Amino acid sequence: MQTITTVAELRRALADAHRADKRVGLVPTMGYLHDGHLALIEASRAQCDVTVVSIFVNPTQFGPREDLSTYPRDFQRDEKLCRDAGVTIVFAPVSQEIYPAQFETFVEPGELAKPLCGAFRPGHFRGVATVVCKLFNMVQPDVAFFGQKDFQQCAVVRRMAIDLNLPIEIVTVPTVREADRLAMSSRNRYLSEEDRGQALAISRGLFAAAEAFGLGERNVDKLVAIAKRHLETVDQLQYLELVDGDTLKPASSPLHRPAALCVAAYVGSTRLIDNVILQPTP
Ligand code: AMP
Repeated sequence: MQTITTVAELRRALADAHRADKRVGLVPTMGYLHDGHLALIEASRAQCDVTVVSIFVNPTQFGPREDLSTYPRDFQRDEKLCRDAGVTIVFAPVSQEIYPAQFETFVEPGELAKPLCGAFRPGHFRGVATVVCKLFNMVQPDVAFFGQKDFQQCAVVRRMAIDLNLPIEIVTVPTVREADRLAMSSRNRYLSEEDRGQALAISRGLFAAAEAFGLGERNVDKLVAIAKRHLETVDQLQYLELVDGDTLKPASSPLHRPAALCVAAYVGSTRLIDNVILQPTP
């Protein structure tokens, strides 16, 4: 495995792979890797000859009062996990490599970036789309892997790839959970033991609604109410919304198209997100 920190070196390292028409997979991350990231790496390894993992805590996707400076980091551990997982290249640039002086060109996503997290994190998806587009240009992967946990991110990236004619297949990998069903997240390390107990309300609520859906409930308000009952105990519920799986606009009753029940909540001072997909069978 190679660890690379500059774009020039990255291009050199990938030149042979591209010339030989090898299938290159990219797994973009902000590091502090866990089993969710490893599932993305595994998916890439299964279908690509070369797997590039980027580790970059992207400043442009953090708001001024968010956790950029305290975001968990442990590069040595990440490097070892990548090596053990069979990654070909770890790309870990410093910020100036991605955002040189006088940087001023951004990718501006549209409607998909407005609801859900977009409503609470202004500029977040602009930062995400920009850095992902830049990573796509640097690595020129055939396929890129993203986690379903960040459902809106997947939608924004997919749209961007279509709208900007980026010849890259976007694969969404199902959310990996702890044994008690808490969605894995680098931010889980902020949780105290008490927070950890409270955080379980999120997946409990989502799975209660998914179960009701499985038993035939198709009414949007009722499904949301079922999830909400569990979420009453969290410190601050930012949103709990059932949205259309493609447009991310509010889903309509009775549900007849794939939809996502999405949550963002603060547990203590930690913001957590999660979702379940509800897929009506025809
Ligand atoms: P992050 O490092 O949090 O920016 O995440 C990097 C990638 O890993 C994103 O595509 C996330 O959606 C994905 N990811 C994060 N947590 C999980 C999880 N629990 N299961 C699957 N993918 C995840």
